Order: sequence, then structure tokens, then C-alpha cells
Amino acid sequence: MKIIDILKQDTLSMSFEVFPPKTDSAFDSVKAATEEIAQLKPAFMSVTYGAGGGTSAYTLEIARNIKERYGVETLAHLTCVSSTRETVRQRIAEIKAAGLENVMALRGDLTAEMEGKDRSGWAYRYAVDLIAELADEGFCIGGGCYPEVHPESANQKEDIRHLKEKVDAGCQFLTTQMFFDNNLLYNFLYKIREAGITVPVVAGIMPITNANQVARAIQLSGSHMPQRFKSLVDKFGSDPAAMKQAGIAYATDQIIDLFANNVTNIHVYTMNKPDVARQIQQNLSDILGK
Ligand code: FAD
Repeated sequence: MKIIDILKQDTLSMSFEVFPPKTDSAFDSVKAATEEIAQLKPAFMSVTYGAGGGTSAYTLEIARNIKERYGVETLAHLTCVSSTRETVRQRIAEIKAAGLENVMALRGDLTAEMEGKDRSGWAYRYAVDLIAELADEGFCIGGGCYPEVHPESANQKEDIRHLKEKVDAGCQFLTTQMFFDNNLLYNFLYKIREAGITVPVVAGIMPITNANQVARAIQLSGSHMPQRFKSLVDKFGSDPAAMKQAGIAYATDQIIDLFANNVTNIHVYTMNKPDVARQIQQNLSDILGK
């Protein structure tokens, strides 16, 4: 099933993201965690792509397994930065061979080494280059978007202009970077709609369940931490059980507010934690009808 058909349904949806293992030895435990999450029967699941593509086979194996074994639709992430055309063609063929219909087309982060290089001759400089290539392959294509502006963008206007280029090239839906203040998303939605971007936007929610995750999340996403969230980390950060409960409650509260404001599709960054995904789903059981 194409994910766009799930997103366009007139109901609230919650989907989950998982990531593949970095090593062979971690494969079985990661696979087991993704299966536990699949048993919650989310609207769909996405499987990320390791930076540089080193774990691409695992991405497909996990996505295929979830779809075939649990009947949960999956979205395979694919990045393109610094890749050759041959590598990307091979990945596309592998995604098709795995029976997957949905691809999240991303550029990937630039490494420190790439930053200094002349990138003008690269086959894929931006996600739009990958989206254009995937557009004729019959996939449903998703793309990333940044309510707080992508860190490399000079300003939001430029970032939204490039976002529109991705949609015009064939990106059928967008998933946001994590954010902790819903007002940032509402402002972003207003601006992209005004810019003529009409595709569904899936709101990405990261439940912060331990204090160490906070610094990492800010470093990765540049997300603004509202005072209400900082107070919670100050108070409960040193007590793992309390922090987990408070983090799940905060994410639940964000999701309820989003649903109440007609943001109907939510994607939870589960960090491969079935207990966190399960608790959030239980907190929303009547709202989601599950
Ligand atoms: P792009 O859309 O190419 O944008 C990157 C920057 O370039 C932006 O600042 C944009 O404004 C600018 N830009 C775009 N086009 C042009 C142009 N023509 N000229 C000048 N500037 C331009 N990373 C992984 O490695 N694996 C994953 O699985 C993964 N999953 C993700 C899922 C989501 C939902 C999100 C939001 C991000 C994910 N990432 C993942 C991280 C992502 O790879 C990085 O954020 C990366 O830095 C940007 O990727 P992008 O596809 O948004 O890039």
C-alpha cells in the first residue's frame, strides 16, 4: 500500500520510526525490537538508513520483515549525498526486489570531510536530485522538512523554496524533524501552505525518556527546548524511571494538542523502544480507537 493513501484517510494516524543495527551482532536484538513495535499495528513504520549507507541491507531486511510478517506497511529511508548513480540505481533495484513501495528520499548529513570538498560535480547534491530520479519508478516518495529551518539554510524563506522544489519533483508527503514546541509547527505549516505546498505533513515526535538524550537531540536537530520541557528534565533527569514517565507524558501531550489542532498524522521516533511506543499508544487508546 502506498503511504500517501494512509495519510489522506480522514482519520488520525500514528506511525513509528525504527533504525537498523550498525553491526551484525546487534541484528537479532534490533529485529526483535522492531517486531514488538510492529505488533502494536501502527499506521506504518519507517526504517532509517545508516549515514553513508553501510547498513542499507539491514534497512531493507527489517522493512521487508515487518511488512511480510506483520502486515504493517513500511517506508524505507534512502540517502544520496556523495553516492554515485550506479550505487543509487542498485539501491532502487534492491528496494523493489524487497517488495517495498514507499521510499523516504533524503540527502543525508554532510560529514566534516565532505564539507570542505568541491561538491559541484556530485551526482546528488540535494534530496531533490534523488526525488527526481525516484519519481519515474512508481514509488510513493516522502521527504524531510524542518519546522525550525534546516541548519544549513540561510533563512526559512530559502528553506521553504527548496522544500517546494522537492514537492514539485515528486515528493508526495513530508515528515518533520523533531520539535518540542507545537507552535513552531503551526507557524511552519502556515508558511508552507502559503508557499503553495499542499502535500500531507507528518509531525515527527521524539519522546525524550532519559536526560542524556536531550543534549544529543539538540545537537542533531538544533531543536528549541521550551522552558516547560527544561523544567521537567531539571526535576526528573537524575531519576531514570521518573524521567521516562515524564518524557512519555510530554510527548503524549504534544500529540494530543496536534490532533486537537487538525494535525492528523503523527510519526513517533521510537528509538527502537517497544515499551515507549506501547505506552504512548495506550495513552492515546480512545483517541486513536485502539
Ligand atoms: P535537502 O532537502 O537536500 O536539504 C538540505 C539543505 O540544502 C537544506 O538547507 C535545503 O534548504 C538546502 N537545499 C536544498 N536544495 C537546494 C538547492 N537546490 N540549492 C541550495 N540549497 C539547497 N539521515 C540519514 O542519514 N538517514 C536517515 O534515515 C534519515 N532520516 C531522516 C528522516 C527525517 C524525517 C528527517 C527530517 C531527516 C532524516 N535524516 C536522515 C537526516 C537528513 O539526512 C539531514 O537532515 C540532512 O542534513 C538533510 O536531508 P534532506 O533530505 O532534508 O536534504
